[in-house]
Amino acid sequence: MRIFAIAEHRMGELNPITLELLNLANAIKGDGTSEVVLIGKDVSNFANELVKYADKVWIAEHESLEYFNPETYLDVLNRIFEGNKPDIVLVGNTSYGLEIAPLLAVKLSAPIATDVVNVDVSDGIVVTKYIFQGKLMVDMRLKPSETYVLSIRQGIFKEGEGVSGKIERIDITPSESKRKFVQYIEPEVGEVDITQADIVVTVGRGIEDASNIELAEELAEKLGGVVAGSRPVIDNGWLPKDRQIGISGKTVKPRLYLGLAVSGAFQHVMGMKDSELIIAINKDPEAPIFGVAQYGIVGDIFEVVPELIEQLSKLKG
Ligand SMILES: Cc1cc2nc3c(=O)[nH]c(=O)nc-3n(C[C@H](O)[C@H](O)[C@H](O)COP(=O)(O)OP(=O)(O)OC[C@H]3O[C@@H](n4cnc5c(N)ncnc54)[C@H](O)[C@@H]3O)c2cc1C
Repeated sequence: MRIFAIAEHRMGELNPITLELLNLANAIKGDGTSEVVLIGKDVSNFANELVKYADKVWIAEHESLEYFNPETYLDVLNRIFEGNKPDIVLVGNTSYGLEIAPLLAVKLSAPIATDVVNVDVSDGIVVTKYIFQGKLMVDMRLKPSETYVLSIRQGIFKEGEGVSGKIERIDITPSESKRKFVQYIEPEVGEVDITQADIVVTVGRGIEDASNIELAEELAEKLGGVVAGSRPVIDNGWLPKDRQIGISGKTVKPRLYLGLAVSGAFQHVMGMKDSELIIAINKDPEAPIFGVAQYGIVGDIFEVVPELIEQLSKLKG
């Protein structure tokens, strides 16, 4: 199968979702190819990186492609796909991907599935998704088609084998667009992407109050990590929504997940179980989180965490 991923980048940075899409493409391509389309201005450096993960990197550079514009980007994609019919097109389930995926699906007359967490190509195309706000996980068989468009949840396909491909530069002058890029507005200061953090200190309902979050923040700072939360913490407004881990939040795979007073409900565990090292602190020895943790401390976080902070401060001198 020919699996195409659409590369995503913004303000000079490649979104790691692009490599995740290629990991998936390489896993399902069979005897076929993993290919990635890179559109922009002065993006050759990304092509050199992507060629380590794709059999082919298509690069289209033009002045007018500097900023993401679904109209011009779609125009470029159409021209590539005209002579190179994809079996599956993968985009990130991001604001970028969700803007382009439906337009692409219409152009290609392809079935589309969004927020996909697994793809099985052994017998037709079967995708796995969460439905009813994550209450159920379903396998959906897509209507047979020549091409499919799938948007893939971020943080799921982090690992994969590298391949060594080639770069194909295409000379395209995109058609005029009605939309114009006006301004890039930086996200609020302090916003973090928990899916990209190496160390995630996660607070659960047992943190009791917004004012206690600073305890976790202090620990995260000592460890060089970020603070995330379980759903009750987010529902209570103690942390912003983009810090939620779990099926109705984000999937994380950090080097270290440290859970503070998190019980380990199924819906939470689905979003962190693939972390490299899981350590949990909970006063209930029967808490399910200990079932997925490699190390556990049975104790009160309000006693254990200050002690940890003190010991880390001593270690750091
Ligand atoms: C459709 C649906 C989607 C959901 N999606 C998500 C999701 O994406 N993410 C998510 O996290 N949840 C999700 N949930 C909720 C999930 O079912 C759990 O209710 C939630 O994960 C529990 O969060 P918690 O562990 O923080 O709280 P609790 O289950 O209340 O656990 C608190 C834990 O803290 C311990 N504790 C309390 N005080 C202390 C202390 N001082 N020191 C040490 N330990 C202490 C307790 O022993 C307990 O184990 C979803 C639920 C549904 C129905």
